[in-house]
Amino acid sequence: MTSFYDERLETLPPEALRAHQWARLAGLAREVSPSNPFIARKWKAAGVSAAQDLRGWEDWARLPFTRKHELVEDQAAHPPFGSNLTYPVARYVRVHQTSGTTGTPLRWLDTQEAWDWWLRCWGFVLRGAGLVPGDRIFFPFSFGLFVGFWAGFEGARALGAMAIPGGGQDSAQRLAALETLGATAVCCTPSYALHLAQVARERGVDLRRLGVRTMVQAGEPGAGIPSVRARLEEEWGARAYDHAGMTEMGAYGFECQAQAGLHVNESEFIAEIIDPATGGPAREGELVLSNLGRPGSPVLRYRTGDRVRAAADPCECGRTFLRLEGGILGRVDDMLIVRGVNVFPSALEGIIRRFPAVDEFLIEVFRRDEMDEVRLLLEMRDGQARQVAAAVQEAVRVELGIRVEAVPVPPQSLPRYELKARRLVRRASA
Ligand SMILES: [Zn+2]
Repeated sequence: MTSFYDERLETLPPEALRAHQWARLAGLAREVSPSNPFIARKWKAAGVSAAQDLRGWEDWARLPFTRKHELVEDQAAHPPFGSNLTYPVARYVRVHQTSGTTGTPLRWLDTQEAWDWWLRCWGFVLRGAGLVPGDRIFFPFSFGLFVGFWAGFEGARALGAMAIPGGGQDSAQRLAALETLGATAVCCTPSYALHLAQVARERGVDLRRLGVRTMVQAGEPGAGIPSVRARLEEEWGARAYDHAGMTEMGAYGFECQAQAGLHVNESEFIAEIIDPATGGPAREGELVLSNLGRPGSPVLRYRTGDRVRAAADPCECGRTFLRLEGGILGRVDDMLIVRGVNVFPSALEGIIRRFPAVDEFLIEVFRRDEMDEVRLLLEMRDGQARQVAAAVQEAVRVELGIRVEAVPVPPQSLPRYELKARRLVRRASA
């Protein structure tokens, strides 16, 4: 049985879904275009000076893309919040910022209405994973300026579930809180869930005996990689669901109980997939998103930099929303070219995570004779390190067709991440 948040919208036939999006978009354009300086500048360059100039999807397709560097530059030019503001600053009630893993953090303001919209979007995520009022959802996360888990936390409460904050605690205290408070679900990054599993093992705590049955994995791809999901589910004795969102965009992607890739919430977002080189439509390419429920600071036709592939078949859950096979496949600009072979770091992670002896890893990339070379640093806990490293190296050679060097490193020597793991490092030389 499928658990929906808004069954009517989630199962709209394609034409009705497009009509729903258009109605939302037209309303948004009327609200935004007269008073938002950032949007007005961008649209004017495309010959659109008022909402009524947008007559249909062909006009929409002529609007320029938005890129992250434009938003960053706009904030630098108009500190501290930039000029993508439809209303006076006094109308905004929350400020957050991006995690800053890929450069200067971007600040973002939300009105009360936009914050309610965030909670609604999280409703689709949590219900998609089968969570209901009565669930107790634990968020092992240090709540700060980063928006993601705030919205998830408040979304859990809005859904009628019990939201349990895990800020200001170390991993051991979080494990104790999980048990004492009877958490039935956990929402964190896949990296942190694996780290907690390692801490539990070291402390002799059997996670599978706790009451956690559902995990929603936010903040980075991972649950969409089959071997990572298998490991999460094995360690926790729970089902792991992928989720995707961005501070500047919103919580747009969620997984249903069929666990068949990310659904894009097309009732609240418009999704396009483009060839990153030409900008033309594609089945596999860069994800371009527009949000429909945040008129105070909308982001339209945003090039996310994430590589995705649209599924051809409908999902067995009955949703008509776009489904992205394998979730986020990688960053468009993270693709490595190793001796002429294109490799995404997620493909390497997919192999490494099949080896239970590996607790953490780092992918080092360096240039040699104008080519990318890859070294895998593998942190392992038992005495089989050399054999396991050799086995990983061999699996990469057989499955991806590339030669990499796999090197064991001592326990606890690699960084751990509560948010957005950075496991790819480019070095100038070997
Ligand atoms: Zn589905």
